[in-house]
Amino acid sequence: MDYTELMITVPRESVDDVTFELSEMGITSTQIIDNAVVDEIMDRKNDYEWDYIEPELADADRSKDPKICVYFEDTREGRSLMEQVRERFSGYETEGDTVHEQDWVNEYKKHFKVCRLTDSIVIRPSWEKEENVTAEFGPDKKILILDPGMAFGTGSHETTSLCAGFLEEYGCSGKKVMDVGTGSGILAMAASLLGAEKVLGIDIDPTACQVAEENVRINKCEDTVEIREGDLTEGVDFDADIICANLMADLVCMLSAHVKEHLRKDGIFFSSGILTEKKDTVASAIEDAGMKIIETREKGEWCAIAAVYA
Ligand code: SAH
Repeated sequence: MDYTELMITVPRESVDDVTFELSEMGITSTQIIDNAVVDEIMDRKNDYEWDYIEPELADADRSKDPKICVYFEDTREGRSLMEQVRERFSGYETEGDTVHEQDWVNEYKKHFKVCRLTDSIVIRPSWEKEENVTAEFGPDKKILILDPGMAFGTGSHETTSLCAGFLEEYGCSGKKVMDVGTGSGILAMAASLLGAEKVLGIDIDPTACQVAEENVRINKCEDTVEIREGDLTEGVDFDADIICANLMADLVCMLSAHVKEHLRKDGIFFSSGILTEKKDTVASAIEDAGMKIIETREKGEWCAIAAVYA
């Protein structure tokens, strides 16, 4: 079904009143677009709420009035309700736009293309033909089929490819690998393609777990890869030769202390998702946890660290 999105521009002090009036008209689901919330988010930088913010968002113009966004179904009732809302708020600037449901679901597909993950692995979006991979990368690549859906991990992000590069170059053949924060399951499946004997992918987000399980199924690696919902390694019983974690700096620091409990002697810990400015803090946490840093790699503003439990 298509929807009409109506945006009502209101002064900041009227947002609550207008939202209340809308709820009296039976509209309880609204979205408020207000650049001023960026300041609130910026204030929470030190509470491990976020690690990276898009520069455009950080620089957004706070002086603009907020917009209240309401969606109406493209039915007779929906259109009539929208007219009532337009009339009631005729004193405010309103703009309407049609939203095709198909676009919501498939928007990300436009931006997610066949791409190289490591020297030997190429990512093929599940809706792309295999010929497109062969045409671009030749016939010898290992192909990982992926539909990231609502989960993070298309392979195009530096943090993912840094970690995948470590998995490939240090080798996974015959190894037991744990992937903490598996997202779309991309690193867990890459480890399997690289010859791992057993892989456990963990994620705190149930939607990511569903997506990862579906990807494991389409890549036919269920025998090697298991996906489990959970918080970091809490309550997990798995002895790994390799642990990889593409999270963010603070989470990697928190995880480091637990990594050793799950890592065999001489096992390796690959961590990624670390802004270069936080490299030293994370490296210290890893060393404090009793591991030795063996390599650090950087791509753009991101870095990844390889450490060994010697
Ligand atoms: N491994 C993928 C996805 C990384 S995104 C890749 O490399 O591209 C990080 C993932 O970690 C997200 O899916 C998020 O849900 C998950 N995550 C965040 N906090 C977590 C926690 N405390 N325990 C487990 N997973 C967590």
